[in-house]
Amino acid sequence: MSPIAIVWLRRDLRLEDNAALYHALKSNCKVLPIFIFDSEILDKLSDKKDARVSFLHATITELQKQLKVHNGGIEVYYGKPEEVWHEIISTHTIKAVYANHDYEPYAIARDSKIAAMLQQKNIAFNTFKDQCIFEKSEVVKDDGKPYTVFTPYSKKWKEKLKPYYLKAYPTEKYAHNYLTPTNKEIPTLAEIGFEASSINFPQSSLNKNIVEQYHLQRDIPSIAGTTRLSLHLRFGTISIRKLAREGQFLNEKWLNELIWRDFYMMILWHFPHVVNGAFKPQYNTIAWRNNETEFKAWCEGKTGYAIVDAGMRELNRTGFMHNRVRMIVASFLIKHLLVDWRWGEAYFAQKLLDFDLSANNGGWQWAASSGCDAAPYFRVFNPELQTEKFDPKLAYIKKWVPEYDSLSYMQSRIVDHKFARERVLKTYKAALEK
Ligand code: FAD
Repeated sequence: MSPIAIVWLRRDLRLEDNAALYHALKSNCKVLPIFIFDSEILDKLSDKKDARVSFLHATITELQKQLKVHNGGIEVYYGKPEEVWHEIISTHTIKAVYANHDYEPYAIARDSKIAAMLQQKNIAFNTFKDQCIFEKSEVVKDDGKPYTVFTPYSKKWKEKLKPYYLKAYPTEKYAHNYLTPTNKEIPTLAEIGFEASSINFPQSSLNKNIVEQYHLQRDIPSIAGTTRLSLHLRFGTISIRKLAREGQFLNEKWLNELIWRDFYMMILWHFPHVVNGAFKPQYNTIAWRNNETEFKAWCEGKTGYAIVDAGMRELNRTGFMHNRVRMIVASFLIKHLLVDWRWGEAYFAQKLLDFDLSANNGGWQWAASSGCDAAPYFRVFNPELQTEKFDPKLAYIKKWVPEYDSLSYMQSRIVDHKFARERVLKTYKAALEK
């Protein structure tokens, strides 16, 4: 049999407008998409009903159906990527492997090991930009250095944007090139150690009405004023080029959110130290209190601050939290309770359906004031004022904290706002003015 091309799908789980898939399909070889349920990642998930694993499984099953229409199919593996690749190499005759770039340190290390392994066998490893509009050093300052402030970055990003960058890769033109695979079954959820989750997943289509109203409604957590596409952007079940194409002239505020996403991916790529510590190193010396009882109360939505508790309960129940509320709960944990932002970051990483290392780390470091373009350290969100501004009729709070006006709830406040504010200012000052 002639050598084949393999497309290694990771966080680009779609057949349409997929850069790596397109280049493979065009390469004159028969194309076999594969997916690896990576045991190195799955073993670290403590919740065996993790909704993201259910989402992945359902998505792969759907891809299998779509590929069957073209007499193709996906081969799905479970294990450590290096071991799986040994198996794939020994059971297939491969001309080249195609994949899309991933900017997280774990993925970079994994890909470089696999690239070396393939090279030893004279198999090309061809990789492409697919996950963002501009990556790595495509948008940099005039002196070639990466931006660390969003506004000038976004200005340059918009100047650089040409229709070419948003063009879809027409994979459907080459759909006759899929390889008809052997009848390898997709492993069941149970076979990879998981159970089905009962969480509902948002739709993957763009609601243009929401985008048009975005600048007016995006900060109000009680209404569906944001697109809820983050899960799909995380796993690539929707193309970022398609979204940017459809949304770019509808609302600049919304386009800016997609740019924030590119910005944080770029920051992670250039400054991988953010994974373990503050972007600005002097913020690593803050004397956190790290009180475990208080942290548990925050996780469970039992701080006595209704807007904070509503957000945490929404997260625990649905795997989603509105952006405005993410900022409020993050600020509360870090500044009111003086808990290390990395604790909150890790909790979000466990719970968010849309968990993405670059955006999550960026969001947490923004709230901790330790990030590249962060809130100043003396900015301490007042939960009452945030509620008056963004949930004035308490619609969001009533949904998640029905006991919000009971005496016992009102008396359960974990800390006094004024006291906490003074404490955090003193603590940050002591660290930063050393
Ligand atoms: P929309 O408002 O409709 O925006 C469209 C898309 O733009 C989003 O789907 C998302 O991909 C992107 N986007 C929007 N805001 C941001 C932002 N501030 N930074 C980067 N990308 C953005 N987003 C994640 O995707 N994953 C995370 O793990 C994550 N963790 C966060 C943690 C904290 C503490 C904070 C403050 C924010 C975090 N965000 C994260 C950013 C933001 O809250 C979510 O992207 C947004 O709430 C998703 O809802 P949506 O799809 O309706 O977004």
